[in-house]
Amino acid sequence: MSRPTQQILALNAFEPGSAKGLPDDVRALVERRKASFGPASVLFYKEPLHVVEASGTFLYAADGKRYLDLYNNVPSVGHCHPKVVEAIAHQAARLNCHTRYLFDGLHEYAERLLSHFPASLSNVAFTCTGSESNDLALRMARVSTGNPGVIVTETAYHGNTTAVTEISPSSYKKGAPPAYVETIPAPDPAHYGADVSTGFAQAVKKAMTALESRGHRLGAFVADSIFSSDGVYADPPGFLKAAIDLVQKNGALFIADEVQPGFARTGTAMWGFARHGVVPDMVTMGKPMGNGFPMGGVVTRPDLLSRFCDEFGYFNTFGGNPVASAAGLAVLDVIAEEGLMENALAVGAHLMSRLKDLGTLCPQLGKVRGSGLYIGLDIVDRNDPANPSPATATDLINGLRERQILIGAAGPFGHVLKVRPPLCLTINDADHFVDTLDRVLGDRPAS
Ligand code: PMP
Repeated sequence: MSRPTQQILALNAFEPGSAKGLPDDVRALVERRKASFGPASVLFYKEPLHVVEASGTFLYAADGKRYLDLYNNVPSVGHCHPKVVEAIAHQAARLNCHTRYLFDGLHEYAERLLSHFPASLSNVAFTCTGSESNDLALRMARVSTGNPGVIVTETAYHGNTTAVTEISPSSYKKGAPPAYVETIPAPDPAHYGADVSTGFAQAVKKAMTALESRGHRLGAFVADSIFSSDGVYADPPGFLKAAIDLVQKNGALFIADEVQPGFARTGTAMWGFARHGVVPDMVTMGKPMGNGFPMGGVVTRPDLLSRFCDEFGYFNTFGGNPVASAAGLAVLDVIAEEGLMENALAVGAHLMSRLKDLGTLCPQLGKVRGSGLYIGLDIVDRNDPANPSPATATDLINGLRERQILIGAAGPFGHVLKVRPPLCLTINDADHFVDTLDRVLGDRPAS
């Protein structure tokens, strides 16, 4: 049965037509926001949440309630982490300016960041967002290969500039990406059978042929290495390798988009691509890099950056400024000092195992996938487990919000619960989520 796919911003979105039923204070804010932002105002939940402060894994709302955050990977080392806040405030009070001077901190940050990458990836260009990083990476790929063709997955999201919107099929409400872009299904056994690795590589090969038939040779394969918007696909480790080998053997580049899995989230490495034993040609970063301070970057091989800089000047006013460098360094320190990669692995494994156990009792819970603190949980029709149920997923998301737990959706139909909390999530937080989910599912009486 074919079912409508969901545009990424439509997932779990507040429906403006339902503003009437909201409490007075919330409705007033929603209307005020709509007056300024018009249709570009996107809010979550049936009843949008008015947040006022945050700490660790919790957001605090204007209604005085505390909400457990299982959604936000921007404050990746914890909301308002004191060490990051102090680093930002201290540097902002001392010096912040554009990036065409020498100043302390930047070089240490660049060296520390690069030390987490394979040796061949030894240059970095700093940006301010993930979109900007992917945009720059695409430009570099076009210059160095001379080929415009791009392959992405069917529900990919890579950002909001003109160029990266064109390689983000999930952004389209109408129409489809242009002819130089070819999409392939997510690395899901439902598409490729048990041997996802071979199937996925074959899909890449087919996509290359399709691009060539339209006169566009492949320049880059761009993938979020945890396939988050596609619904979270991490296993089996190494499944990406055959596809990447094929891409690179054909003179095209692999751009690993680490905006989602990067900075220790998958629990076994700093970067999602490491799970697959591949070395990308470029790695793009964003959100978690500054724990809320807007930062991004592209890490690449010096030869690729030089070829690009032979053709174009590249300057970024804010990318890698003194405050960004301070924030970035503090984030790397906190990940190491607080053992957040290890925490992601341990708490993520506990959470996945508890979700799988709950799934044996609740027919609406389907497959659980992921690595570390990036987990996708399929929500299915209770009478037909082969059938995704986006409506149930939306009900669960809103039911959890009522019980003070924040979570979001992913996947082509919006039927995958996306668990992506700050990396300091505790075992207690994880247990509280599973127990509450159990209650929201309403299958069994509250324990
Ligand atoms: N790549 C991926 C995989 C993302 O999820 C996002 C943002 N959700 C981006 C790129 C764009 O990042 P930004 O919103 O910082 O521009």
